[in-house]
Amino acid sequence: MPRYDLHCHSTHSDGLLQPAEVVRRAAARGVDVLALTDHDELSGLAEAADAAREAAIALVPGSELSVSWEDQTFHVVALGIDPACEALALGLAAIREGRTTRARRIGAALADAGIPGAYEGALRYVTSERLVSRTHFARYLVEAGYVGDVKSVFKRYLTRGKPGYVKHAWASLPQAIGWIREAGGQAVLAHPGRYKLGTSELRRFLGEFRDTGGAGIEVLSSSHTHAQFAQFATLARVFGLAASSGSDYHGPGESYMDLGDLPDLPAGVTPVWARW
Ligand code: AMP
Ligand code: MN
Ligand code: MN
Ligand code: MN
Repeated sequence: MPRYDLHCHSTHSDGLLQPAEVVRRAAARGVDVLALTDHDELSGLAEAADAAREAAIALVPGSELSVSWEDQTFHVVALGIDPACEALALGLAAIREGRTTRARRIGAALADAGIPGAYEGALRYVTSERLVSRTHFARYLVEAGYVGDVKSVFKRYLTRGKPGYVKHAWASLPQAIGWIREAGGQAVLAHPGRYKLGTSELRRFLGEFRDTGGAGIEVLSSSHTHAQFAQFATLARVFGLAASSGSDYHGPGESYMDLGDLPDLPAGVTPVWARW
């Protein structure tokens, strides 16, 4: 069976490797089908496609869209989109603009918490002038010596309820799924195990996601435990959603799992690639 890894990042969002390096690393690690899914961005796909041709693996054009639903942030992975789709490109450009405004507010919030200059510091870590993310703040705060490692920065400063967290309105669920479908892609809920939701709220979200045109959920993700692999396989079946698998790799030293490290999908689910 071919090995799929349908979620990872490059320097075109908050990853550490160039798109071509990501593709070559995936190929070297035995991945046959790779989706590059940079946050709210498509600009790395052309380089990735060239590298995939050279490495003789398949590249699925993708992105990971930031979405707001009832006061919470969700990530929706777009798979198999046409990178030339204008509606999608415009939608992503609008999300990226919001990121810049948010980043200034994060900088101000951190300054209030006694950490001046974080916005400028984060910008030094940005690797695509089009996109700034909390990851860039985290890398700066580590470098500046405020916290020992990136994960601890998120825990202490950048997550809900912490001093550097600011609320932000991303795209709506119907917008994000609409753009993805207009671009001919499948909308897949990223790392469902990461959201702070009770079981009934998660079920309500999954029902709405499916009814809005969502195609699948990540059953396998580096964010999930083995128990969650089984839990989300069951939810995929119950909600009639396809199953996806993605490492969410961001680069050496910063990820739980490397490209291609996930096991095969559990039995009984329909893979998102069933109709590819
Ligand atoms: P943003 O889209 O700017 O809100 O940033 C979200 C990104 O931050 C995610 O895609 C991850 O790369 C990273 N991230 C979020 N939570 C954590 C965490 N607890 N530890 C490490 N990285 C995280
Ligand atoms: Mn990220
Ligand atoms: Mn994500
Ligand atoms: Mn991701």
